[in-house]
Amino acid sequence: MMHLTPRLALLSALLSIALLSHIQPSLSLGIRDSDLPSHHQAFFSSPSSFPSSPNNNGNGYEPAPLPVPNPTHSFWTHSAPDANVLAGEGSKGELTSEADVCVIGSGITGVSAAWHLVEGLKKREGEGLDIVVLEARDFCSGATGRNGGHLAEDTFSSFRSRIATHGLPNAIRAIQIESYTTNAIASIIHSHNLTEKVDLVEEGRVSLQFDEVWMEGRRRDWEEARRLGVEVGSVEWFDEGEMREIYGTSRGQGVKIPGRNLWPLKFVTELYKLANSSLPSSSSLHLHTRTPVTAVSPLSSSSSSSSTSSTSGNPRRWSLSTPRGPISCTTVLHATNAYASHLLPHLAGPEGIVPTRGQVIAVRSNATEQELSRSGWVGNRGFEYWFPRPVREGDSPNPLVILGGGREHETGRFEYYQADDSGIDAKVGRALREFLPRVFPGKFVESEGEKGEEVEMEWTGIMGFTKIGDPFVGPVLTPNPTTGEITPQVGQYISAGYSGHGMPRGFSCAEVSAGLILAELSNTTYDLPEWFPTHYLTENRV
Ligand SMILES: Cc1cc2nc3c(=O)[nH]c(=O)nc-3n(C[C@H](O)[C@H](O)[C@H](O)COP(=O)(O)OP(=O)(O)OC[C@H]3O[C@@H](n4cnc5c(N)ncnc54)[C@H](O)[C@@H]3O)c2cc1C
Repeated sequence: MMHLTPRLALLSALLSIALLSHIQPSLSLGIRDSDLPSHHQAFFSSPSSFPSSPNNNGNGYEPAPLPVPNPTHSFWTHSAPDANVLAGEGSKGELTSEADVCVIGSGITGVSAAWHLVEGLKKREGEGLDIVVLEARDFCSGATGRNGGHLAEDTFSSFRSRIATHGLPNAIRAIQIESYTTNAIASIIHSHNLTEKVDLVEEGRVSLQFDEVWMEGRRRDWEEARRLGVEVGSVEWFDEGEMREIYGTSRGQGVKIPGRNLWPLKFVTELYKLANSSLPSSSSLHLHTRTPVTAVSPLSSSSSSSSTSSTSGNPRRWSLSTPRGPISCTTVLHATNAYASHLLPHLAGPEGIVPTRGQVIAVRSNATEQELSRSGWVGNRGFEYWFPRPVREGDSPNPLVILGGGREHETGRFEYYQADDSGIDAKVGRALREFLPRVFPGKFVESEGEKGEEVEMEWTGIMGFTKIGDPFVGPVLTPNPTTGEITPQVGQYISAGYSGHGMPRGFSCAEVSAGLILAELSNTTYDLPEWFPTHYLTENRV
């Protein structure tokens, strides 16, 4: 176990550097450019560069806007009357005026943080916290409520490039965090009998790839992981003929890896309800949706010390501005992913978190569930990802397939710096409509144009991409743009920037954030879990 105290933080950073320089020369990885994953993928994203921002006119980068008020309707938020039962929770009436912890954002990260805070409090007798979750729009209507529904660990893919960039221990942890997260989520679902409620399907994931060189790179990643004894779960490789025979694909090789899919919004809803129902009596949890935070500013020392009503006994340090009034908080967690730079402008631009729009369609297949397989799929270097929704009694025997991707057709821009999910991109929509009929001949209606009847729903959502494809987790550290000097914003934390791959990471990055917050508020230390990649930490990213 590793300790993280302010004093040890610097030491840990120095150790990481020493470790990295020790390990790199000793491994002969032989990585070529073609081995590296594409930096434009939705899932396996390791972006090495972004095109320049349309807003970068030599004056720096524009921070992300607030989430737009009129997003497209996703299958997860709008296909059933009970899809988002917490949509407008706490949006009317009085706003909570102060809290020990203010979580900004109600996606998987924000709600997982609230759940982990409550879990932590249950183990700390006598300690109580007032927790508030603030959400700009409807509950969980950001990326988590608009994504592709995959809960799939990206196990060995990118393993060798991660060793080269982050060192072997962190390359291994990058695998471990994802299997830890997906298993932890599945375990909550099973132990509370939520499998049907959240539509969890545990049938693995098939990766269908058209680029032989790229596929060879993945095989070498897998071999390297196995050679080093890393646990990567069950893996089966298929050549083109085998793929055609087993899955009816028109071309491409495949590899079947562990993977699950679910209804993400329903899981996050249940997680919030679990946190609320197991709250110790000394604590409180409030959710205020449709309440955007427009600024986070320090409370003056006189006003912060004047507050004596803090449940944790800590003075309030930050004031959150909202259109409904201010909230005073002791600690703040930015769980705002793509939108993080709105409140933290130093994260604008390619060194921070770049809002990137993803698009998804729900399309009916001609084939049955058995003919399609119940697996999730990822294809074409990770650009496209899809899975058939589970068929229940009384449903059409032809499953609805949720397919996302197509950003590669927005040549050059890949929908980077696009933070508006109120509309769709026509080119991307056309590419998505053409994809499945080509991959599975005869199993989908050929596209009849952009507005073909066969598409039942279409929506967009905003991902938060970072240069290295990994999130920022930990205390907020603000660099001075001129001197480069780092100022810790004491009491502010962030967990954001999952680069299109947040379901198997957001939940556990929030666990670490909650652990750091609880430790700070109770003046104790926090042991970072073994599975946590230390290069995610903000202190290692400045
Ligand atoms: C189209 C698409 C497809 C994807 N497919 C997958 C997939 O299949 N599998 C996978 O693993 N990942 C996928 N991802 C990525 C994944 O959905 C995200 O990484 C993950 O949901 C991030 O969770 P989060 O809670 O950090 O952010 P979000 O879910 O975006 O939550 C952040 C919340 O903060 C709110 N907010 C922002 N600013 C403010 C403010 N100032 N005040 C108050 N509230 C604010 C937002 O409204 C939002 O609800 C996809 C993403 C998209 C967009």
